[in-house]
Amino acid sequence: MATAFSALGLSEPVVKALDELGFEQPTPIQQKSIPFLLDGRDLLAQAQTGTGKTAAFGLPLVDRSDPQDARVQALVLAPTRELAVQVCEAIHTYSKHSGVRVLPIYGGQPIDRQMRRLRAGAQIVVGTPGRVLDLMRRSSLDLTALRTLVLDEADQMLDMGFIEEVQTILDAAPPERQLVFFSATLPASIRKLAARHLRTPMTLTMPAEERDTPAIAQRVYFVNFKNRAQALTRVLAAEDPASALIFTRTKQAADELAEQLQDDGHRAEALHGDLNQSAREAVLGRFRRQQLNVVVATDVAARGLDIADLSHVINYDLPQDGESYIHRIGRTGRAGRSGVAISFALPTDRYRLRLIERATGSTLVPAKIPSAGEIQVRRTERLVEQLRRQLQADESDPNLVLYREVVGQLREEFDLGDIAATFLKLAQQRPGSTGSG
Ligand code: AMP
Repeated sequence: MATAFSALGLSEPVVKALDELGFEQPTPIQQKSIPFLLDGRDLLAQAQTGTGKTAAFGLPLVDRSDPQDARVQALVLAPTRELAVQVCEAIHTYSKHSGVRVLPIYGGQPIDRQMRRLRAGAQIVVGTPGRVLDLMRRSSLDLTALRTLVLDEADQMLDMGFIEEVQTILDAAPPERQLVFFSATLPASIRKLAARHLRTPMTLTMPAEERDTPAIAQRVYFVNFKNRAQALTRVLAAEDPASALIFTRTKQAADELAEQLQDDGHRAEALHGDLNQSAREAVLGRFRRQQLNVVVATDVAARGLDIADLSHVINYDLPQDGESYIHRIGRTGRAGRSGVAISFALPTDRYRLRLIERATGSTLVPAKIPSAGEIQVRRTERLVEQLRRQLQADESDPNLVLYREVVGQLREEFDLGDIAATFLKLAQQRPGSTGSG
């Protein structure tokens, strides 16, 4: 059993759910915040996506909810529909054995259905500020029994202009409620809101060196406007990413780049605000199912988006500032897996690059755009790696009998080393055989 979680004070049904999920050890943010939140205290926590923040606030919410009481006891506000759904799904898995009901509410879905579901009863509601307020005004969402209110990605919520909705919801909650803020960054606006509403909170901030996730390799390529597209093509060829999220500044650039990448043979699509909700979800679905390996997105469209195992985040256009940079690259290198964050900097970007480095406390390592020869070397390395994995795994594969026979026949004519080398050459000439797994 995941006993380290019991030691934090979590109940047996929750620990059992974590055990089934394969969580063995609490992450640092979970370690610090769970006992405190179980105690009903207010918290202001700086934590990015990938730190285990959802469980940090979600687990105490489940344990502090009374399944016998059908009223809403906890409300989580999230900036986007995608994040609301993702947080709701996470809490749903944690509450599997607790008998607690979790409900997502967000715009874009018929409000009647959400009203019906609320009437049926839910202890935890996760929603976007606009729809939450709408349902409160229709007297469908009643906060009188609310014990905990969580703001997830609070900085994004304010960036997206939800301050008034958030204020109204905060004011409508019972005065004795527990209040919890999670935010990737702590700009003045968040600190001000916290100072106004939180009562003797614990503040968890991360020193720059902890924030700068070591699992993420951060590189920068200096390019000019003319050679940037070709530089990206080469970097992608050398990296062969399993799943890359590429950021552009504008929708038009996202469309153009996605098209160029398709021409290059990538399974790429654009994701931006001009696509309606269902088209956006369809793109995300294909990305998650790995039918796409590249998505080109604008910041707005990518907000709150969760995709596990993202291998690369690429800033084709540099983000506006350090906060936005942290948000973008937080999507790779999750839960201890390694990730790569690549940025392209134009000659006019040098100042902004320094600002980003200063704001994040990290260094972006300058890298050389790979040559055709280097790309070839990388492809070969991947092929050899793939071969090695297969050799280790397939020793007893009955299908190999047939191939061994073929090799046996060839050996009567040729040298074994020559056979293997020639076969590798052929394998590499085959399109799509770069060995990305
Ligand atoms: P989050 O920061 O909430 O977006 O979580 C990032 C990822 O880490 C999610 O896929 C979680 O399921 C996973 N995760 C969270 N806590 C743990 C843990 N203690 N052990 C293993 N994985 C975790």
